[in-house]
Amino acid sequence: MAEADPDLSAERPDVWAPRRRKLAPSKPEAFAKQDTLSITPDFERFEQHNDMFCRGFWDRDFSNKNVAKFFRSFVKPSERFRDKDGFTQRDYALRNGPWVVTEMFAEMYKSRNQRDGFWDPFTAHIPPKVAPMPVEDPAKAARDVKRIAKLYGADLVGITDYDERLTYASGYSARSNSCKAIDLPEGLTNVIVFAKSMDYDLIRTSPSATASTAPAMGYAHDATILLALAQYIRSLGYEAVANQNDTTLAIPYAVKAGLGEYGRSGLVVTKKYGSRVRLARILTNMPLAHDTPKSLGVAATCNACRRCANNCPPQAIDHGDPSDFVYNRSNIKGVKKWTTDGEKCFTFWVSKGTDCANCIRTCPYNKPTNSALGKTIRWMLGTPLRKWALKLDDRLRWHDQKSGEGWWRGDKKHWETVAKAEDHPLNSRKYEMQMRLRKVLEKKRAKEKAEL
Ligand code: SF4
Ligand code: SF4
Repeated sequence: MAEADPDLSAERPDVWAPRRRKLAPSKPEAFAKQDTLSITPDFERFEQHNDMFCRGFWDRDFSNKNVAKFFRSFVKPSERFRDKDGFTQRDYALRNGPWVVTEMFAEMYKSRNQRDGFWDPFTAHIPPKVAPMPVEDPAKAARDVKRIAKLYGADLVGITDYDERLTYASGYSARSNSCKAIDLPEGLTNVIVFAKSMDYDLIRTSPSATASTAPAMGYAHDATILLALAQYIRSLGYEAVANQNDTTLAIPYAVKAGLGEYGRSGLVVTKKYGSRVRLARILTNMPLAHDTPKSLGVAATCNACRRCANNCPPQAIDHGDPSDFVYNRSNIKGVKKWTTDGEKCFTFWVSKGTDCANCIRTCPYNKPTNSALGKTIRWMLGTPLRKWALKLDDRLRWHDQKSGEGWWRGDKKHWETVAKAEDHPLNSRKYEMQMRLRKVLEKKRAKEKAEL
């Protein structure tokens, strides 16, 4: 997220030619038993330089002064703060506090052309060269790993098998502003996926710098859990590659490992926290029993609910049915799913001067974990009563945006609403506008293809 000496005059990177192994299925294949996620024969592995955060460094359409200022603000805040609720000097100071942890790791091996946690796995510290401790019972070893992950601070943990399709085809090098090879140890078999929940009250103020403190804390906590758990596994004599934003795709792994279901927002929706979680992964060769993907009824809820799409300020979230449509190079190719327009989302973040979490805030699964009513609504969402749950949830107004100033006051009884959120049903005007835009893009692409 933070600064990496952007070269604003950079051309599109010369793409380092990744080893393009044929990993696409011969016919569409449901991914992790999800009704709303399938891999098609057009599947291509994602290349990290197409991620919006990397494009902010090399892509002429995005690597401009405003984007550089946006990245820089996470470490060197501007001296000109907006005197606006949620965007004051103390709001940015609050957000930037935890970022220092993530930034420290990202900068640690800059001289080796690494940005640990963002574009590269966390570097193994003092790798213990010990013989692997025999694992006679992978189910028990999996239970131990989950218990330890939770001891170190994770809230949800699942384990699944390593899937090469979910490893980026190439990494990204900030130094050369181009692609680089991903070097993983041979023989990785399993992936431990964990989620750290983000603060409910902070997210209620999204979009604001106050709200952005929640992901900043999530990143910092994830980094320490990842490092500790990876070191535990290495100390047992096994490989452990710790991924945060780098190397592998977080969302499909979380779905495969049973942490939650894929949602319309393009995020994983978990039963307990909704999508208010930060995800991390450890790739390992330690023998561990696997979890299975869960069916929580999220797809059925998303078919009836469009809160995230209705409340996305730049209208980046899918109002329609899952499809293999891609908006731009930041979408993975050959996956049928609800697709988010990352360019629109990122442009909105830059215009706001901080990241946004409206899709997390407004999701009906996002509830305080200690509220009996919240638990009841989450339970109803997994049953045929979900339509009533959505109506009840619209009435309760928990999805409205709260004031950053109110968060600082800490007085929940008189916490002002600064923006009323749109409720759950389909907004046909927004849906039709999105479908028109897609048609225009499709026509433009067909024309460009014909001209080639
Ligand atoms: S983070 Fe904000 S802008 Fe981006 S998709 Fe979610 S609601 Fe839309
Ligand atoms: S807000 Fe509604 S549509 Fe969006 S992910 Fe949550 S349940 Fe699904």
